[in-house]
Amino acid sequence: MVVVGASIAGLLAARALSDHVESVVVLERERLPESVEPRGRVPQGRHIHLLLSAGLDRLRDWFPGIEDECLGRGAVHIDGTGGFVFQGGAYRARGDWGRPAISQSRPLLESVVRGRVATLPNVTIEDGVTVEGVALSGRRVTGVLVDGQERPADLVVDCSGRSSRIAHDLASRGLLDPPVTRVDIDIAYTSFTLRRSAGDLDGQFVFCSDNPGTFRFGAAVPIEGERWQVTVGGVHGDVPPLSYDGIAEFAATLPTPAVGQLIDRCERVSEVTTYRFPSSQRRRYEKVRDLLPGLVVLGDASSSFDPIYGQGMSSSALQAETLGQLVARTGVWDADLPRRFHRRAARIIEAPWRIAVGGDFGHPATRGPKPLGTDQLNGYIRRVVLAAHASLPVAVAFNDVLQLARPPASLFHPFVVARVLRAAGRSPVVTGAPVLHPRVGPVVTD
Ligand SMILES: Cc1cc2nc3c(=O)[nH]c(=O)nc-3n(C[C@H](O)[C@H](O)[C@H](O)COP(=O)(O)OP(=O)(O)OC[C@H]3O[C@@H](n4cnc5c(N)ncnc54)[C@H](O)[C@@H]3O)c2cc1C
Repeated sequence: MVVVGASIAGLLAARALSDHVESVVVLERERLPESVEPRGRVPQGRHIHLLLSAGLDRLRDWFPGIEDECLGRGAVHIDGTGGFVFQGGAYRARGDWGRPAISQSRPLLESVVRGRVATLPNVTIEDGVTVEGVALSGRRVTGVLVDGQERPADLVVDCSGRSSRIAHDLASRGLLDPPVTRVDIDIAYTSFTLRRSAGDLDGQFVFCSDNPGTFRFGAAVPIEGERWQVTVGGVHGDVPPLSYDGIAEFAATLPTPAVGQLIDRCERVSEVTTYRFPSSQRRRYEKVRDLLPGLVVLGDASSSFDPIYGQGMSSSALQAETLGQLVARTGVWDADLPRRFHRRAARIIEAPWRIAVGGDFGHPATRGPKPLGTDQLNGYIRRVVLAAHASLPVAVAFNDVLQLARPPASLFHPFVVARVLRAAGRSPVVTGAPVLHPRVGPVVTD
């Protein structure tokens, strides 16, 4: 079995499959670093990367003790009290959200996961190996092509990311050309790290979004090395400036002062980097009648979401888990495996897709196919956001959906709906009560 790409999706696919197949070879075109650093082919590693509960739960199962390992390497424990999340004009109610998390840079998480996968006895990671395409016998994929030579495989798992060469090659040859759905958002990230002091923001994180409104956002999450990973951004051409003074001015326009205050107060310890992400994109393999036996596609190569919702790694984990379960049942030779997998994967992808593009359609400039019912759902979500300012149970229910831990439909449970209807009118946005912003610096005592 060959997995193409040793980023998060490839590593998790290898882990999930290693329980059910004799051997897995992961081929990665880049030379993988020994140290914890962003790498060239994964430029998003310089930007904020949240691991949602759904992803963390899978990692806990696959790699026992992984949280302690991350914490031992400097990751930060985030208690379950919800941080400071500002949306729709006020902060979400704080209290016991019940989902403690860990926070670290993307390179640290990838390094820990890669280290764990590399120790699996039946998995080999080969770096510096570029896959040029797949080898075919009739319509069956029999392996991958490297330096013009076939490397045989009973199953090829394409985890080579959004611009997958395999996908482009097969589409241009008319062999596998799934319909592609894109929803344009043109989101721009500008990111850097700051020195973090004990007591800053009470050890919490801050995320704020001017949504509804300009859709400008800013976030600061604690990461290893006593640093804040800070990102500010905008959508549809609203690109933050690159100069540090310009960034501070941009941050001052955010609806919470916390991010700007951290920028003013803390020493910057990295370069400023930017990333522009044009559109959420889905290659809809589940709609193709004649998939190629021997090939499945997973992670960003099949679905990549507006990153502000933090879903890519967790969605990859859920897809990898499903692939492992299917292979356990059918084996890798089953010619029907791709169809079964992509049907199930499509159901997994549907929730993060609806959350991401549904949210993005709240901005009038967003373009693309709008899922049925989006406007009605967004109308209800606006009330959920207001109610979440005043009601902890609503904040928890909303967070569970955003963390991909519960389906969006759970927000329509009568328990939640009743509280949404009752609490929305108690939001400070409605009552006019003052919004209390978090204290950015530590308490100074004599
Ligand atoms: C700015 C930004 C912020 C994000 N923030 C978050 C977040 O907060 N939370 C979250 O969960 N997700 C986030 N994501 C998404 C997340 O990074 C991806 O979903 C995740 O990395 C899974 O992607 P992947 O493994 O499928 O592909 P990629 O990460 O793109 O990796 C593809 C891998 O395949 C290798 N490869 C490519 N072609 C070949 C080839 N021909 N041969 C061999 N190897 C090849 C590449 O070198 C690379 O290692 C963010 C994305 C962006 C852009």
